[in-house]
Order: sequence, then C-alpha cells, then structure tokens
Amino acid sequence: RQEQFRALRDVEPLTKDGKRILLQMNAGLLVDLPQLTASGAEGIGLFRTELQFMISSTMPKAEEQENFYRSVLRQADGRPVTFRTLDIGGDKVVPYFRSQEEENPALGWRAIRLSLDRPGLLRTQLRALLKASSGAELKMMLPMVTEVSEIRAVRELMQKEVQHLSKFGHQLPKRLQFGVMLEVPALLWQLEELMEEVDFVSVGSNDLFQFSMAVDRGNARVADRFDVLGRPFLRILRDIVRAADKAGTPLTLCGEMAGKPLSAMALLGLGFRSISMSATSIGPIKAMLLALDVDRLSKLLDAALDDHRTHLPVRDILTGFAEDN
Ligand code: PEP
Ligand code: MG
Repeated sequence: RQEQFRALRDVEPLTKDGKRILLQMNAGLLVDLPQLTASGAEGIGLFRTELQFMISSTMPKAEEQENFYRSVLRQADGRPVTFRTLDIGGDKVVPYFRSQEEENPALGWRAIRLSLDRPGLLRTQLRALLKASSGAELKMMLPMVTEVSEIRAVRELMQKEVQHLSKFGHQLPKRLQFGVMLEVPALLWQLEELMEEVDFVSVGSNDLFQFSMAVDRGNARVADRFDVLGRPFLRILRDIVRAADKAGTPLTLCGEMAGKPLSAMALLGLGFRSISMSATSIGPIKAMLLALDVDRLSKLLDAALDDHRTHLPVRDILTGFAEDN
C-alpha cells in the first residue's frame, strides 16, 4: 500500500466528479519539512510555532525565531506555509512559561489570550514572521480566538510592527494573509463578522470538538465517547461551510479528522475543498478522493443531517456509501 500511495504523489487531487481539493500537511519542526516533497502535500496548512518553544529549555530569542521561520520557508521552496502564532497553555506545556496552576488549563490562560496579555512576546513573534517573509508571502493565523475583537487587537500590533520595520528600511512581505483558527464555539455565533474580518479561516476540529461536546481531548475515558461524525458536530461544520461560502472566505480544516479517510470523505461531502493533515495521511486521503463522487455524497449527507427522525448513525451511512463506491 505504501508503494501505491507513493505512486499517487504527483497525481492531481481531483475527485471523480472533477472537484479540485487542496491537500496540505501539518508540521512544527524542521525535521517535518522533507515530508512536503515525499508526501506530495501542496503546502503546510498548519505550522505549529509553539513546538520550537516546547523543545527548548529557554525562551527562543527573536533572532532564533526569525532564523527558524526563514529556514522553514526556504525548505518549503515556494510552497505556502501557514504559521500559527504561539498556542501554548492547555495541553501544550512550555516548562519555562508556567504561570500559576490552573484548575482548568484547557479553559485558561493560553494561546491568543496569553499572547495578547504579553504583547512583547507576540510582537517579537510577529516581527520575526514579517522579517523572515520579506519579499514573499506571509500567511499566519491565530489560535483559540473567542471574540472577533481579539483579531482586531492583533491586527493593530501587526500594523505597528509593519510601520516599525518599514521605518528602518526593512523589506516587507509582498503579501500578508491573515487568518484565524475556528476552535472555540463562541465564534459560531460571530460567523458573519468573522468571515468579513479575515483572509481565511481554518477549523481546528480537535479543539472545536472538545469544546462543543464538553469532552477533554486528552482524557481517554471520554475522548471517544461521542463521534466527530455524529449529527451535532457535522451540523456545526456544515454551518461553517455555508457561512464561508456566503462570504467567499477561503476555508480549510486542520484537525485530526482531516487525516482519516472516512471523516475526510465526510468533510468533502460537507463542502470543504481544502484540508491539512499529518504527512503520512496525504497518500490514503488522495486515494480516497480520487474515487469519490462528491456531489452524490453531498446529497446523501445533507439528507442525513436534515433528517430529525432517523436514529441511524451518520457514520454507518458514510461507511455504507464508502463501501458501495
Ligand atoms: C485543533 O485544535 O484541531 C488543531 C489543529 O490544533 P491543535 O491540535 O494544535 O490544538
Ligand atoms: Mg487547537
């Protein structure tokens, strides 16, 4: 099978009914980069910048951050890289950055909250990203956004950094793409403003599932209790696709479900046309989509989600469709 997947590496990801799908990979360290070429991923849809911080015993200095981002972009060799700003706290522990003990770290001082409260830290990272991308495109996104106002606050800091760099004669990126991760349910009731506010949205389905179902993603006792392919979560995802389509805002999804053939199939059926996953999943997912008639699946899936009477699990419906096809 490995051989079979390798043979697909340079095959264009087109579904059987001709829909072009963007397949990107998730990464966080330089050792991940060779996987870009090996897997045939078209870019990095999620670059977890906190990993550089997590493997270091002290806070990486501004220059180290900048050099690291530059190496990533050099190795990506023109393929797009979406950098996520620091997502520390919660399940992502950085030893030299322990605040007080929190009773509920997943709901605590983390990710963009921490970055906004430590603007020096955030501005250092933004400057490092801007400098590393000079003359090229910078794609970046914010983790764990809860209110649209947080995006505006980061934009203001970004503007200051841009002004600062141009004042000192630095070459700026030729294009900035500013996005957010949709992983906190409160954003579901701000979809219109959100889609207007940003250049793209990336669904963090791991956290969006954790928070919408109230199940700790790290607690084996409950993590698998509810199904990502159950009606509640799929309806949430469908609402997001509809809002993005309506606003014309590019949408992607970068959680674990993008890397599993059956759930990735469901995502395409819901209307996702871009997904990002671990490099090893690119082959299997491409094999799945080459054989997929998305239009037919969409109709089936829509009907299954609109049906308020049946108790037939959507996972079974999807499995049946996959087997028949
Ligand atoms: C997610 O939450 O789905 C995600 C992709 O980010 P992480 O797994 O790093 O929290
Ligand atoms: Mg997350």
